[in-house]
Amino acid sequence: MKFAGLQKLDLLNCPGKVSATVFTQGCNFRCPYCHNPSLVLPQTEAAKEAMVDEEDIFSYLEKRHGMIEAVAITGGEPTLHPELEDFIRKVKEMGFFVKLDTNGTNPEFLKRLLDQGLVGYVAMDFKTALEHYDRVVANGGAVEKIRESLKILSSSAVDWEIRTTCVPSIVKEEDFERIKIEMDKLGVGYKWYLQAFNPAVTLDEAYHESLAYEQDFLEKLKERLSDERSSVRIR
Ligand code: SF4
Repeated sequence: MKFAGLQKLDLLNCPGKVSATVFTQGCNFRCPYCHNPSLVLPQTEAAKEAMVDEEDIFSYLEKRHGMIEAVAITGGEPTLHPELEDFIRKVKEMGFFVKLDTNGTNPEFLKRLLDQGLVGYVAMDFKTALEHYDRVVANGGAVEKIRESLKILSSSAVDWEIRTTCVPSIVKEEDFERIKIEMDKLGVGYKWYLQAFNPAVTLDEAYHESLAYEQDFLEKLKERLSDERSSVRIR
């Protein structure tokens, strides 16, 4: 399998672990605020040439055993690549912990990874209230898939989180409450990261001009949304 990039050392992406991060190419969403446009848009020739082969990633990991504990897989949308399953299996066989980022639209793939114990941590996007997902994707089928992925995560033994990038035009104040209602229906405790929006690099250039929520607003939101079931944090 080929990857769009390798970040050799990452202290933030995999909670509590020193990791390497690999990036997959392509995404089935078009979030206008996406901060990885090069992984979403068709690749330029230069980007194609910069792809990293999995053998080079394995060889890097082999040399960093003991220093790196985990491999974080992000995109784009990693689950668009069926061959990722074999890549993850090899990474696990090498003794690394695996964290997966996903937008939640491939519950079948997610379940297969979890059933085989291939992934130890999953970070899944919950981008806005489900009834407003048309703000990020023009595909009505995505919402049912996302519901299914949430059910799979909530009944699994792995550590997981949901995360919401707080872009005012995508997640309006009342949408946070709607997300919470949907999450509470799962009947389990959950970690929910509110991610501050950074307009410096965005898929839709118009979003460079967008305002982000104030930190103070996010702090108050965190207080309001936290309870015995939801552990809300700001990232
Ligand atoms: S933010 Fe994530 S899901 Fe949205 S377009 Fe970018 S990579 Fe895809």
